[in-house]
This record gives sequence, structure tokens and C-alpha cells, in this order.
Amino acid sequence: MINKNMNTKEVYTAFGIDLETMIDPETVSLSNEYMTSLNILPEERFIYGSGYAVERCINDAFREITKLPKLSSRIELRYIYQETGEEVYREGYVFDPEFFNQKMKWALDYWLGRREPIPVGERNRWKCNFCGYRDMCPVGR
Ligand code: SF4
Repeated sequence: MINKNMNTKEVYTAFGIDLETMIDPETVSLSNEYMTSLNILPEERFIYGSGYAVERCINDAFREITKLPKLSSRIELRYIYQETGEEVYREGYVFDPEFFNQKMKWALDYWLGRREPIPVGERNRWKCNFCGYRDMCPVGR
């Protein structure tokens, strides 16, 4: 996206937006705050429709993203404990797209209901110290 190698159609595809139905304002729900930020008045919403607003949102995002610096090949992972806002762990490694995609798929499979949760392994046992399920989890106790 920084290199302008992506177009709006690819974003629609990635989010599963059907271009045929998107123009129907009833099918996409945009907040009043967002519509107002685009200077679209409530009475104008049926003139512009959600499709116009979504396209504006994507183009605004593209414009902002191109202002970002070039990506580093080194990726840094920071764990922030939500209860205190404190950084509890940090690790860095060289970005490997294949490894990254494999880990993302594994994580998403859980969030999309495609696999059961599994307890953390030995290497990640420190995470149990910050887990809200610790008292009821056989591993964390
Ligand atoms: S306590 Fe259980 S649920 Fe929580 S991080 Fe550890 S293994 Fe996972």
C-alpha cells in the first residue's frame, strides 16, 4: 500500500464486499460521525450512498498510508498488559512473509472458529501470569 501497489477493488475483495450490493445504503452501515467527517449531511446520504462513503474512506486511507516511511525488514513484537498498560515482553526478528502468514493463519483459525483453543506451550508459559483465565485453567494454576 505504501508503494501504491493496491487498488480499491482489492480492498473490497479482501473484506468480502460485494460491489453489486454495496451501493445499497441499507447494506453497509456507516456511523454518523464518519459521514459527518466526510462533510456528508444526513439529508445527502441517499444521494451519495454508502458506496461513495466507503470509497472515500479507502482512498483517504491510501493517501495517509503513502505518507508512511518505508517498512523495515525487522519486525518487533510488543506485549502490552491491558490492565496496567505496561509493556511486559518484547521480541524482534527479521520479517519472513511465509512464517508470518503461517502464524496469522493459525491465530485466525481460532478467532474464526475453525479450531479449538490450546494452552500455551512451555516457551510462552510467562503469558499465564497476565491471563484472566488463569484461576480456571489447568495449565495456569
Ligand atoms: S492460563 Fe491457560 S488460558 Fe491463560 S494463557 Fe495460560 S494456558 Fe492460556
